[in-house]
Amino acid sequence: MAQKQFDFDITRIDHFLYDMRGCIKCKGCMWVDHIYMPGIRFSTRCPSATRYFFDSFGAYGKMRIGLAYIEKRLPPSDTLRHIFYVCTLCGACDVGCKRNLDLEIGLSLEALRVKLVRDGVGPMPAHQKKADEIFLCHNVFGYPHKKRGAWIPQKISPTKGAKTLYFAGCYGSYIHTEVSRATVKILEASGTPFQMMDDEWCCGNLLFSVGMIEEAKRQAERNLSIVRESGATTLLTSCAECYRMWKVDYPKILHLSTSELGFEVKHLTEFVHEAISEGRIKFSIPFEGKLAYHDSCSLSRLSEPWISWSGERQQWGILQPPLSRRRGTCGVYQSPREILNLIPGIHWAELHRKKENGFCCGAGRGTEDAFPDFAMWAAEQRLEEVVAIGAEGIISACPRCKSNFLRAVKKNQQELQVFDISEIILASIGGVKKERSGDRRH
Ligand code: SF4
Ligand code: SF4
Repeated sequence: MAQKQFDFDITRIDHFLYDMRGCIKCKGCMWVDHIYMPGIRFSTRCPSATRYFFDSFGAYGKMRIGLAYIEKRLPPSDTLRHIFYVCTLCGACDVGCKRNLDLEIGLSLEALRVKLVRDGVGPMPAHQKKADEIFLCHNVFGYPHKKRGAWIPQKISPTKGAKTLYFAGCYGSYIHTEVSRATVKILEASGTPFQMMDDEWCCGNLLFSVGMIEEAKRQAERNLSIVRESGATTLLTSCAECYRMWKVDYPKILHLSTSELGFEVKHLTEFVHEAISEGRIKFSIPFEGKLAYHDSCSLSRLSEPWISWSGERQQWGILQPPLSRRRGTCGVYQSPREILNLIPGIHWAELHRKKENGFCCGAGRGTEDAFPDFAMWAAEQRLEEVVAIGAEGIISACPRCKSNFLRAVKKNQQELQVFDISEIILASIGGVKKERSGDRRH
């Protein structure tokens, strides 16, 4: 029998009951695709299930427990809340599941968090504290808002009305300012005028990720209207989480498609890749290093454009009109790799778990804020993989990943170098030498 008209609105948990009930506990969401498995070590894709090792923590457990909670067979509790939040929402389970069954596991996990918040069960207390800081200071750290733009190099001036608007994000503005500085210097080197928001606020990633959907929506509406009024045709980010928010989750929560935003969302790596092909950026200075490239979840499997859909479910679960599923294979994979291929001197290598099978660094989507030990553990797992392939450091394309890897390197007193790709790009196009940090600080 056809399921009446529905859509993938994550505020409607009833729209995801089919997906949650459809889980057959096959655990395809836990393991890396067998053909890519390097062996026993590094064979899992779900940080939560790997760390906690009980079925409750894998997507299969979360689907069962979520259903029991919705159907009032299981009362709310601290344990239940813990199970749903000690999860990086990394999307690995969604990709794994769709190898077998077309179930929307990632969206179900998001919808469950929205329900927990609406029921007064979520988010975690640490998330609420962060949310309050966002409301008060417009950044996730509670730092003074008036210092948000302090990172902008004195010699570089944004151009009002420019077609490219650079959104630095909270990490780029306060913590890893070397990433934002490198980004604007790369823009300058490529001859690209850029503007910034007059008054940049947090993108709202934490609010959205922990299920505070109304608050996230207000943040999205405010930010979107400013960019639309700015005349910019491109919104550029160097943070993978900001990128996913602007490109995928703003449209998702506002019932739009990515193509209806009114401007294009680009990550720095996409911009640089294009600039290389147009001859506006050339690499000439060798960057020596034996480094591994880490796919940030929000730039890779979570970054496919959002296409608004509504329709009916017919016999055997067939959707009408047909739905083009987001399978994680069309994320931003090639641009960073092709950039690295062109940098002279660098020896970079793939990790065992790569692209849509990548293993999350553990930091994002509220995880590090509420579960710093779990986030640290995930970063350590990833760094073990770096060591296992013989690399001397790691490159990511997100300051959030960089931050978490640095924490782990520092804790374990490792000699590993940690770079954001923007630093390598800048160094190789003749950026200031001292910008090569490869630092071990946090
Ligand atoms: S892969 Fe999908 S169906 Fe299989 S256990 Fe995981 S969520 Fe359930
Ligand atoms: S989103 Fe990531 S951490 Fe959470 S259940 Fe899925 S694979 Fe595991």
